Amino acid sequence: MSKPRRIERICVFCGSSAGVDEQYSRLAADLGTEIAGRGYELVYGGGNLGLMGAVSRAAYNGGAKVYGIIPGPLAAKEIAGETIGTIEVVETMHQRKARMAELADAFVTLPGGIGTLEELFETISWIQLGIHSKPMGMLNVCGFFDSLLQLLAHQIDQGFIAARYRGLLVVEEEPGALIDRLLLHETPKSSVRWITPAQA
Ligand code: AMP
Repeated sequence: MSKPRRIERICVFCGSSAGVDEQYSRLAADLGTEIAGRGYELVYGGGNLGLMGAVSRAAYNGGAKVYGIIPGPLAAKEIAGETIGTIEVVETMHQRKARMAELADAFVTLPGGIGTLEELFETISWIQLGIHSKPMGMLNVCGFFDSLLQLLAHQIDQGFIAARYRGLLVVEEEPGALIDRLLLHETPKSSVRWITPAQA
């Protein structure tokens, strides 16, 4: 078995909405509590609405350092009332993702919308490009991601994604089990470093 990797900060990608099932917020809060309980820090998109609010509030209340990275123009839309943790205001969406990726040692995706998928897939694509090899997890709350995972498997079967990336995403239903696996996970490496972080 491989030696556990060192994780200090976990970046969470998740919806700025809460979704229709209260399980989403419950699991987001459980993840925040788990991150705090293990002594990790949280990096997230800086908003305090929806699942972003649930995970960051729970992590903060559990004693974790929380870093929110938000583009100035979005702050009015995604922050209602008091901010949670340390908020870093950047200029663009791209700077936000780059900064979140720079700070984090691992990524976890929770249910969300287009923005969540955009963050997930750009970060995965950076593994393919050889920009990073940080572990990526997904909390598959109530089977939310089943159809997406089927599509990814189909893309591999049809020859559009290299077979070595089949185990790239660590998928679990409970935060504790997910983090345990991320600690041991070997991210499949890109064969080439196509571009540098500055060129991303
Ligand atoms: P959503 O899943 O659509 O609720 O969005 C979740 C988060 O992703 C929100 O904080 C959005 O602002 C953010 N987001 C949306 N598009 C992008 C993007 N292109 N780059 C970085 N963050 C984004």
